[in-house]
Amino acid sequence: MSDCIFCRIVAGTIPAKKVYEDGDVLAFNDINPARPVHVLVIPKKHITSLATAAPEDTPVLGHMLALANRVATEQGSPDGFRVIINTGRVGNQEVPHLHIHIVGGPDPVGPMLKRL
Ligand code: 5GP
Ligand code: ZN
Repeated sequence: MSDCIFCRIVAGTIPAKKVYEDGDVLAFNDINPARPVHVLVIPKKHITSLATAAPEDTPVLGHMLALANRVATEQGSPDGFRVIINTGRVGNQEVPHLHIHIVGGPDPVGPMLKRL
């Protein structure tokens, strides 16, 4: 997926501040952080969203979630964090390559969602 911005980050053709990498996943700082800690964790394989993930993607999804506490702690959010996975139009997903946001910092991130 050469036209996918996160696939380009995996390929190294767009720079990113990487904070974790292994054979299956990459974690890097969000370019426009919403909180002092704001890391994106992505599968290296292109998966568009949670809505299109296949049954065989289950292990990598579990791996991404299992890494969240380690990444948050190492990046400066040792007392908890929030994971957000925006999905599709209703979820206001902007980048169509599945990613989890890990947001946190020294202070609480605030209420879950603004009520409509
Ligand atoms: P979404 O709305 O799809 O859940 O979130 C996409 C996130 O990707 C946004 O928080 C945005 O700041 C981040 N983002 C978009 N383009 C880039 C980029 O080129 N590099 C990095 N590091 N983050 C990006
Ligand atoms: Zn992609």
